[in-house]
Amino acid sequence: MSKAPKLRNDCFALPAGVYWTPVDEALSLLEAGLQTVVDNEVCEVEACDGRILAQAVMAPRSHPPCANSAVDGYVFSGGLTPGAHCLDLQGGRSAAGEAFGGVVSTGQVLLQEDVTVEDGKLYVNGPLKAGANARKAGEDVECGAELFEAGHRVQPQDIGVLISVGVAEVEVFKPLRVAIISTGAELCVPGAEVRTDKIFDANRPMLKAVLRRWGMDVVDMGIVPDNAKLVRQTLDKAAELADVILTSGGASAGDEDHMSAVLSKTGNMALWRIAVKPGRPLALGVWGGVPVFGLPGNPVAAFVCTLIFARPALLQLSGAGFLAPQALTLPAAFAKTKKAGRREYLRARLRDGAIEVFGSEGSGRVSGLSWADGLVELSDQAAEISAGQPVTFYPYSVFGL
Ligand code: AMP
Ligand code: MG
Repeated sequence: MSKAPKLRNDCFALPAGVYWTPVDEALSLLEAGLQTVVDNEVCEVEACDGRILAQAVMAPRSHPPCANSAVDGYVFSGGLTPGAHCLDLQGGRSAAGEAFGGVVSTGQVLLQEDVTVEDGKLYVNGPLKAGANARKAGEDVECGAELFEAGHRVQPQDIGVLISVGVAEVEVFKPLRVAIISTGAELCVPGAEVRTDKIFDANRPMLKAVLRRWGMDVVDMGIVPDNAKLVRQTLDKAAELADVILTSGGASAGDEDHMSAVLSKTGNMALWRIAVKPGRPLALGVWGGVPVFGLPGNPVAAFVCTLIFARPALLQLSGAGFLAPQALTLPAAFAKTKKAGRREYLRARLRDGAIEVFGSEGSGRVSGLSWADGLVELSDQAAEISAGQPVTFYPYSVFGL
């Protein structure tokens, strides 16, 4: 008979006597422990898409800068009662870029298409509301008003707003430099001749793409084999080159988990056992003054932990603040029982107004990441989810993907 202990059915149960940090507590600890680490620089508004504002931006002039007309047409003062009117046309013309020199007191504007002009007379049917088709100076933005707070990430439409009020340059944070390391003796890169006992390093290219979407500068440290000395050397180099280090693999407490071993010796590591599936161990440390996030090696767990834990932390370091993603509440198209006391993130997608989940919860099933449009979050306390019940869905887009 085999001496190996039999795998228990509840092998994923949270072990008794060990504190499993709830997700919200882990996030609060991260928020409290991190602050902006990047410097400021000046950036032309035209080039600032995706950059994070280091200072609030005030409008240097009003929008619109003076009263003007919303349409092409005829301006007159006084009201227009219901019924047909015949008005005398006066001289004076204003075209785009050439203001009318005179004054029109109440400033209604008749739309050109709504009137007939013949022999110096204008024929129109009333009524017309006072102020119709006329814009007041500053009705959109008042000179001096705060347009954006510090920490705001500039979007293309914001560039339109900034330019409209004459802002040419903004003070932004320099992009966060994130060093990325994959660890594992089994890892190789595509193109290399591979033995069947090797696997491709999926995490590094995937996480690099995520970081680039977030506007961060990637410092690629490559693959480090399971060797404590090499892990230390790579961390030293990464801490010189980057503001934060993201590693995947070797984060648990196994014999070949050198990242957590090295970090716990020198890096003030806290191995967080987070009550979350997938990806419970998250190794957090400091190396040469630089924060290190030790993500699980499994690509599904590495991806989910990056979105849920690393993203807000990296945003906080970047100057954008610790941003929580905005969720949608939608009916479940699935039923499931789950262990209470642990939060779960399942690969999910929205179809016909309801949330479907990927057929397998196995975190080795990397293809499910692409099958999905986002993640469904099952709360810590939930035990039974039935079809039709509202669930929390995060489309990938709310993570900036
Ligand atoms: P570890 O956390 O190092 O024990 O890794 C957990 C699992 O994820 C193992 O099956 C590894 O082979 C796999 N893994 C670790 N790193 C990567 C990576 N960069 N790309 C793909 N799979 C990985
Ligand atoms: Mg490993």
